Amino acid sequence: MNSVCWHVLGAGSLGSLWATRLARAGLPVRLILRDKARLTAYNAQAGLAFNEKGQRQTFAIPAQTLSADEPIQRLLVACKAYDAERAVAAVAHRLTATADVLLLQNGLGSQDAVAARIPEARCIFVSSTEGAYRDEDWSVMFAGQGSNWLGDTQHDAAPAWLDELKQAGIPHQWTADIAERLWRKLALNCAINPLTVLHQCRNGGLQAHAEQVTALCAELAHVLQRCGQSGAAEGLLDQVQQVIAATAGNYSSMYQDVAQGRRTEIRYLLGHVCATAAAIDCAAPKLNQLRLRLIEHLNARGLPSD
Ligand code: NAP
Repeated sequence: MNSVCWHVLGAGSLGSLWATRLARAGLPVRLILRDKARLTAYNAQAGLAFNEKGQRQTFAIPAQTLSADEPIQRLLVACKAYDAERAVAAVAHRLTATADVLLLQNGLGSQDAVAARIPEARCIFVSSTEGAYRDEDWSVMFAGQGSNWLGDTQHDAAPAWLDELKQAGIPHQWTADIAERLWRKLALNCAINPLTVLHQCRNGGLQAHAEQVTALCAELAHVLQRCGQSGAAEGLLDQVQQVIAATAGNYSSMYQDVAQGRRTEIRYLLGHVCATAAAIDCAAPKLNQLRLRLIEHLNARGLPSD
């Protein structure tokens, strides 16, 4: 049987990391780029480059724009959270009646917005701890080993194509509770990333602000419990402290985004926790204050705060 084509929407860091590994395994892949200008720029290259441990390999993966008419059976959405809904809406008419759509976005909120746009499709949420960045256009550096947790909040059964991820060497695990995974990652992010931006420090710098971190974790755990995510609340402070110690020399992703003048995903991280707390009438003064200070910081640098 012929393999189903993997359509990868967004040839950024994670999209390229997935597309090149799938292509390397001989699986059919198509990149979906935002417009003709990007397609022309891509087609002027030999393909998409994958860099790992000093080795560089280029894959001539065919690309198309959002408006191509090829039907899509399997879609990997690899845009930022704030771009995902609009990008998926632009290809929604191309999805087949039994399409699977994998959502790689960090945080929460964008996945439900996408799912609401494509009610017929099976949406699979992915929580990735792999790390990648683009050293230049159409070239990805594999920067951090990790794994990908996949799950579906509507159906428990794992899809048969998980075998293709194995074939492609993409580390993954199916989970019956992807919401808990995503909430936990979001909580870790909220306890660390905004503070590194406001204190202008590496993750390890937060060891000097231990009281603030402890208080934030207590409030985060309370919100998680109140919104039915007690599993994600368990041992949160301990894990936050472990992450801070283990990544002491690193700058958080939000710190790097702000430092490089890039839009952050604040709305789907701290913004989502604050909105959830408000919706269930759960007081979250420290998180709200942190959000307002972060918004002020972003606005002062001319960056979007939504
Ligand atoms: P990225 O490098 O900025 O890539 C996003 C890509 O989406 C860009 O190539 C962009 O195109 C493309 N895009 C945006 N709108 C589009 C549209 N309408 N049509 C087609 N393409 C469109 O972002 P990323 O780092 O891969 O992050 C993607 C998601 O994964 C985020 O939610 C992030 O938090 C999460 N994540 C990333 C990592 C990591 O290590 N990078 C790890 C874990 C989770 P252009 O190139 O044309 O701008």
